Amino acid sequence: AGVLVGSMAACSTEREAEPESTGGAAAAEDTVVGIAMPTKSLERWNRDGAHLEGLLQDAGYETSLQYADNKVDQQITQLENMINQGADILVIAPIDDTALAPTLQQAADADIKVIAYDRLLLGTPNVDYYATFDNYGVGTMQGEFIVEALDLENAAGPFNLEPFAGSPDDNNAKFFFAGAWDVLSPYVESGKLVVPSGKAPASNDDWQSIGVQGWSSDTAQSEMENRLNSFYAGGAKVDVVLSPNDSLALGIAQALAGNGYAPGDGYPVLTGQDADQANVLNMIAGKQSMSVWKDTRALGDQVAKMIDQIVAGEDVEVNDEETYDNGEKTVPTYLLQPQVITPDTVEVLVDSEFYSADDLGL
Ligand code: BGC
Repeated sequence: AGVLVGSMAACSTEREAEPESTGGAAAAEDTVVGIAMPTKSLERWNRDGAHLEGLLQDAGYETSLQYADNKVDQQITQLENMINQGADILVIAPIDDTALAPTLQQAADADIKVIAYDRLLLGTPNVDYYATFDNYGVGTMQGEFIVEALDLENAAGPFNLEPFAGSPDDNNAKFFFAGAWDVLSPYVESGKLVVPSGKAPASNDDWQSIGVQGWSSDTAQSEMENRLNSFYAGGAKVDVVLSPNDSLALGIAQALAGNGYAPGDGYPVLTGQDADQANVLNMIAGKQSMSVWKDTRALGDQVAKMIDQIVAGEDVEVNDEETYDNGEKTVPTYLLQPQVITPDTVEVLVDSEFYSADDLGL
């Protein structure tokens, strides 16, 4: 209802006679927001959903928050229910970036506004806005961290690198890999970094060849175990693992531990993303070198602001109108800045109250 009232009110300014005109603003109380999150199995999405729902409810919106257990069909059913139950706005973090196009057509037919949350929706004109972190920047931070940690400019090398990428059906994974590989591939080409498993994509476009479906920790673990067993049996050591996020890093750390890698000298540089609690604890224990922290509260705040602006009939604030082409349109985007966390800087997470000192055993 909110969206309709907003656009009708725009006409009513020309027809002063409308007695019940509210000057363009619809009420939060009349607006239903459906929030579709991918899974509860990764800590961040629980935080994302709870924070955004809390903000919207405090502002008076009616909300429906659904998690789809990483199952595409389940997410489609949840969205169809939201559409049928009269949602005005949908906030969607898709599991599969292309699979929702027909559902989004149903949403458009019902005049529902759609905000892509963290992950872009591809192959559809029916996505109005996108809010996310600078995904390419996340990869750049991981790549630059590796360059500094191994002192690649000065050290002789060569260093053994094992690269991983995120889920092939997640548009973000492409950006994470490109950001990291643009930094690292010159060192692979010069021979300072070598990839004993041979699992180095020939180009950024080839990232899906090392993608881990569904961002699964278990799959990352078995893939890392395979690489260690097949390519390092002769005593070679892994020096660095490019992991795009924390769920993969957890599995990779398990595989390393299983192969006798212990924290301390000789433990590989291992990257991550999200600053999930288990991974921050791993960083403190010396089993992960960094994580790119994306403060999910800031993303929720921005999306709540977008919703307020949509409902009020105002311009929606964006800061990037060129990066996110989804195949059908370039989606107006608000990009937030991520931040590197290392074992030496985990206090930042406590100072900002993302975690309590207790959560981190500090
Ligand atoms: C998100 C990451 C997350 C990954 C796995 C990506 O789309 O941007 O923060 O680690 O999905 O859920």
